[in-house]
Amino acid sequence: MEKKELINSGKVKSVFTTDNEDEVIIEFRDDMTAGDGARKEVMNNKGAYNAVISSKIFKILEENGVATQFIDLPEPNVMVAKKLEMIPIEVIVRNIATGSLVRKYPIEDGTRLEPPIVQMDYKDDEYHDPMLNDSLIKALGIATQDEIKILTEKALKINEVLTKFLKDAGIILVDFKVEFGKDKDGNILLGDEISPDGCRLWDSETLDMLDKELFRKGKDDEVMEAYIEVYNRIIPDDEKVI
Ligand code: 5GP
Repeated sequence: MEKKELINSGKVKSVFTTDNEDEVIIEFRDDMTAGDGARKEVMNNKGAYNAVISSKIFKILEENGVATQFIDLPEPNVMVAKKLEMIPIEVIVRNIATGSLVRKYPIEDGTRLEPPIVQMDYKDDEYHDPMLNDSLIKALGIATQDEIKILTEKALKINEVLTKFLKDAGIILVDFKVEFGKDKDGNILLGDEISPDGCRLWDSETLDMLDKELFRKGKDDEVMEAYIEVYNRIIPDDEKVI
């Protein structure tokens, strides 16, 4: 399958058209960014690790009834996916309070959140991804009340499946961000990626960080080691391609 026209170049991924108008090719680049793209570094093979991790997670989710855009991973850093019209909402699920939650609200870092918090942010770096509520989502014309309900239910289902999958790999799913889009028939599918770029993952025993938070904290020399640790724990040996 050949890349044709570049249709979107994001901070870490490039999306191309293909011969099939219902599909896209998503190339995971080696860029790593923080602060709405203000800081950017190139990390060796990061794109491939994220693409393989994300593909594995999307396959696990599909097996558990969550529809995703994933079709195939023909090369370690290249995903073939269903073409979606993305909904500009970052759906965030939090199982443990940390990050922006404890910076903005009087909740102690490390507090377990039961039930989990589902939060929706407007995906727009120019506005620094401000938090939304149902009225804002409707006023901005981003989604209907029914669609907000679907996004919430899907995000919670993803949380349930992934929490268990990662627990078996000795990883605590602290929080994560997902994005959804609509296929040509209007079905809402999970899109984008689920990787250490958009999740907080802690080692179950040591509570060491295994995700992009290391980069956000300036620990650039530790971050790839953490991504590779996640890869080694969740990708069985006979599926390893890097
Ligand atoms: P926080 O709001 O605490 O900074 O982030 C909550 C969770 O959502 C974290 O797992 C973080 O990685 C993810 N997240 C929130 N916003 C973004 C974003 O713009 N890009 C990425 N990659 N992840 C995000």
